Amino acid sequence: MERLESYVAGAWSAGRGKSHELVNPATEEPIAETSTEGIDLAAAVAFARTEGGPALRALTFAERGALLRAMSRAAHAHRDALLEVAITNGGNTRSDAKFDVDGAIGTLAYYADLGAQLGDARLLVDGDGVQLGRSPRFFGQHILVPRPGVAVHINAFNFPAWGLAEKAACAILAGMPVITKPATSTALVAYRLMKIFTEHAPLPRGALSFVAGPPGDLLDHLGGDDVLAFTGSSATGAALRLLPGLARESVRLNVEADSLNGAVLGPDAAPGSETYAMFLRDVARDMTQKAGQKCTAIRRIFAPAEVVAAVRDDLVERLREARVGDPSQDGVTVGPLTTADQRRGVRAGIERLAAGAAVAIGGSGPFEAASARDGKGYFVPPTLLVAEGPDGAPAAHEHEVFGPVATLFPYDGSAARAAELLCRGRGSLVCSVYSDDRAFAAEVLLGVAPYHGRVLLGSEKIADQAPGPGTVLPQTVHGGPGRAGGGEELGGLRGLHLYSQRTAVQGARPILEAILGARGGARADGAAAGGDAADRGRRG
Ligand code: NAP
Repeated sequence: MERLESYVAGAWSAGRGKSHELVNPATEEPIAETSTEGIDLAAAVAFARTEGGPALRALTFAERGALLRAMSRAAHAHRDALLEVAITNGGNTRSDAKFDVDGAIGTLAYYADLGAQLGDARLLVDGDGVQLGRSPRFFGQHILVPRPGVAVHINAFNFPAWGLAEKAACAILAGMPVITKPATSTALVAYRLMKIFTEHAPLPRGALSFVAGPPGDLLDHLGGDDVLAFTGSSATGAALRLLPGLARESVRLNVEADSLNGAVLGPDAAPGSETYAMFLRDVARDMTQKAGQKCTAIRRIFAPAEVVAAVRDDLVERLREARVGDPSQDGVTVGPLTTADQRRGVRAGIERLAAGAAVAIGGSGPFEAASARDGKGYFVPPTLLVAEGPDGAPAAHEHEVFGPVATLFPYDGSAARAAELLCRGRGSLVCSVYSDDRAFAAEVLLGVAPYHGRVLLGSEKIADQAPGPGTVLPQTVHGGPGRAGGGEELGGLRGLHLYSQRTAVQGARPILEAILGARGGARADGAAAGGDAADRGRRG
């Protein structure tokens, strides 16, 4: 069986001792094993800090961008092999696998473009300068410089390629070395990606390291210069926040966690309209793509009471078309969940939701997937639940069921009620509002914005081009307040802020301008973003 290795201190090495098994979730067959026991993670951190950091900081943005370009191209050249691994280890259909792998390739390319646009600069000038004294001579200017430590990235199981790439792109462009750790259960895709990078797009020594499995004592070695960017469950995120070492050292921490994303249908978007069709398409896609295991997937659906039966029937019809099974087989459109534990959790979650809602399709019972062999595989059917009233199914506003599951609620069609229901998720990554009524959309937007990292205003004007709320685009921020972890990633050059120190510089204006000009400061306000890069890097 293949044994994964970690890439630390500039070399590949395998852990010893008891290993963790990686399986094919459609067949439950073991496909690889890994261990991080015995790997010197203190040395890995020190090596990244002392070798990778200075090497990256010596490069201009354009040079760092060129590294990202090489990584993107190398991954693209090996795309088919990566897709195969995502199918085998992630339970992804080919289309799901592309969502992850192409998202990684595109996001690296997008940040490569931004690096090229920033050119020879090594620091970012943040906003306009400001007069501080009675004469314009005494002047202040904010700048962003790379933090001098290491960025440790801990990723969730569901996006092993994209998670690695989107975080690494921002840190490397900002000038920080990275130690990246995938979730153990799906680490094979990330491992292959790292092999591709080290063989075909080598970075300066120490700029990108890889821990192939459990984190061991990695976090014990972090200090005030470092960054920890975590993606995963709220429970793990909360546990990391409480680590005494991180608190004592003021390690900068970014948490991307659970989310109860909502979609609301406006009263004007009647069945048969283009906006209604967009709403249905987005909900059905989010429920089935990656077997519903997307942090951005729609979990709560709100429709005016008079059309809720039509929405239920239309969704059931679409979900009935889903063919759940082994994604390596032709015609399968929904793969398995990734682990047996997840299936247990999703079934229990459906039961919890069903205590306050009727199951319209699917459910938590035994399920025989098409093309599954001998009852093997962690399959769950797409499951739609319908709450009796807007205040029904309270568990749907509390509990993230991380599978192909969503709950439909009726509401009275008012913008105020829609906003109130969406906000019951207590902080989400994204919500989507489907309406061509600008007054309705405006009222919902202003009501929900403080509780969401992103809001998609779906309308007939963009129905033919918006990829849906489940797709994270590197041009706009990803993250959300409250339950979603309070973190923020991507968003063009905003994505570099986590890895940069913002420093206010005060002094004589001519001196400041001479220094910053000589250092080739580039503007950090996103003016350089967009342009050719605007269409690049979407995940999916
Ligand atoms: P998880 O169990 O919290 O694990 C996430 C990562 O944390 C894994 O790499 C895991 O490593 C690591 N980890 C676990 N305990 C740790 C500890 N004590 N110290 C350091 N690292 C630790 O989450 P998951 O099951 O992989 O992912 C599913 C969850 O992630 C869902 O709730 C989903 O909503 C959320 N998610 C959020 C986003 C977002 O952007 N907001 C994106 C994707 C997923 P091991 O695998 O080695 O245990």
